[in-house]
Parts: sequence; C-alpha cells; structure tokens
Amino acid sequence: MAAVRKIPMRKCVGCGEMKSKKEMLRVLKTEDGQVILDATGRKNGRGAYLCFDRECLKKAVRNKGLERSLKMEIPQTVYEHLEKEFEDIENT
Ligand SMILES: [Zn+2]
Repeated sequence: MAAVRKIPMRKCVGCGEMKSKKEMLRVLKTEDGQVILDATGRKNGRGAYLCFDRECLKKAVRNKGLERSLKMEIPQTVYEHLEKEFEDIENT
C-alpha cells in the first residue's frame, strides 16, 4: 500500500475547523508587533490561521480566537484593517 501523504492541517481561529494550510489565510504578527494578513504564507513571525471566509474573521473577533492565538491584545483598528485586506484578497 502506498503511504498516505500527510497534509499539514491548521485550525481556524474563527470557526475552529481543521483545514489544510492551502485553504487558509495566515494572520501574522510581525516582529514589530503589527498584525497583517500574510497571503503568501512565507513571512516570519507568529501566525494564526483563518478560513478564506470573512465570517471566520468576524467569529475570530467575537471569540477573541485571534488574540488568544497571537497572545496579544488586538485593537479594533487592526481588525478593521484586516477586514479591508480580506476584501482586497477576495477581489483579486
Ligand atoms: Zn473558519
């Protein structure tokens, strides 16, 4: 029998579902403490994962999953910024 290739799974901080990394969006805390969306998944820093779904971002705001995962307080302005970035990604 052929070995089953393991797909790295990540948990969405919004809905809590496990999905493969490719299906998810990485939210990254940079070294200087900024929180950004990392569409390429290649930048360094502490990351959290979200489904490609703005509902999950909203859920992550409500349940503070993103804050827990990044171990920092996230101001409302950052969430607004993330939501805008989400829109940009959706529109490309
Ligand atoms: Zn999700």
